[in-house]
Amino acid sequence: MLPPIYNFSAGPAILPDSVLSTAQNEMFDYNGTGFSVMTMSHRSEVFMSILYHAEQDLRQLLNIPDNYKVLFLQGGASAQFNMVVMNFANGFKRVDSVVTGNWSAIAHSQMGKLSDAEIHLAADGGKLFNYTNLPPVNSWDIDKNSAFVHFVINETVHGLQYREVPKLGDDMPPLVCDMSSEILSRPINVSDFGVIYAGAQKNIGPSGATIVIIREDLLDRCSDRIPDVWNYKSHINRQGMYNTPATYPIYISGLVFRWLQSQGGVAHMETINTLKAKTLYEAIDNSGGFYINNVHPGARSKMNVIFTTGDKRLDELFAQESTTRGLQLLRGYKTMGGMRASIYNAMTLQGVEALIAFMEEFQRRYG
Ligand SMILES: *Cc1c(COP(=O)(O)O)cnc(C)c1O
Repeated sequence: MLPPIYNFSAGPAILPDSVLSTAQNEMFDYNGTGFSVMTMSHRSEVFMSILYHAEQDLRQLLNIPDNYKVLFLQGGASAQFNMVVMNFANGFKRVDSVVTGNWSAIAHSQMGKLSDAEIHLAADGGKLFNYTNLPPVNSWDIDKNSAFVHFVINETVHGLQYREVPKLGDDMPPLVCDMSSEILSRPINVSDFGVIYAGAQKNIGPSGATIVIIREDLLDRCSDRIPDVWNYKSHINRQGMYNTPATYPIYISGLVFRWLQSQGGVAHMETINTLKAKTLYEAIDNSGGFYINNVHPGARSKMNVIFTTGDKRLDELFAQESTTRGLQLLRGYKTMGGMRASIYNAMTLQGVEALIAFMEEFQRRYG
């Protein structure tokens, strides 16, 4: 018998087997309609109901207050780097931007385009820590009058995560958070944020849908001069149907939300995710230096665990051999090298244990 396949991809990433199997069963005939979700009008009653329930289930899982709007947009998290500025920095002189790794650095480099606001570097984790630790929230250089403060809560490439969810004082500008690679991995208090956005393809569903959660009062800032397709207000005024949304990814995301509910919600996910991460970091730390993770223990990501042997040839061998054992897509990000195990919600503890068993065996042979 072939060993099971464990998929450690950083994104598009693993989905629960039961979700894929439901999608398979419903592929040709969704719920007795006689056709596929992929081939129905986004304005049909059937699809409107899929969208409605996806939103309601997400609201339930994250306990989203009524004064927050939810959108499923396209363009990925990358489009949000600019959309948040276009919509919410209008008339402001400054945006505060916290740089802690690959994704927030890209956001920082993009946010100023098509905007007159100064994109102020509020903290620079590259300069301070070479991206092996996170600047504490109380060290961020924030101006009370800034339009908002942008940050990435989990750096997918550098394997860093704010373990305590950042919170600013009431007199501070709203927090705009890229939550792509950790949304729904633990409970959060949505009211601590002005905006939360996340590309679905990390911890939710397939690529193509981007979830945006917006505190209602911020919508007053959206100017009519912003083209409708990039204007949050236009999307909200048309119930998320300004143009054709990514119907199939929304449907799959909805299945994942139901799966999460059946598992006991995000609080339960947090317990399992904490255990998975602890087990894997312990294996790295107990390898006598054969495997290395240089991230400060208080900033280690529970979603993306990076490690290296410190030897490029061995790392390559690890990537190749692990693949033949059913441990897939462990190669690190192109600019980082080494290995990266993304252990999102859908990765089981057994998957992590299989990885550790292989790591130990690999070390016995090459250590
Ligand atoms: C993957 C990722 C992005 C980019 O997402 P796209 O959907 O490809 O635009 C942005 N931010 C974070 C934290 C990510 O992990």
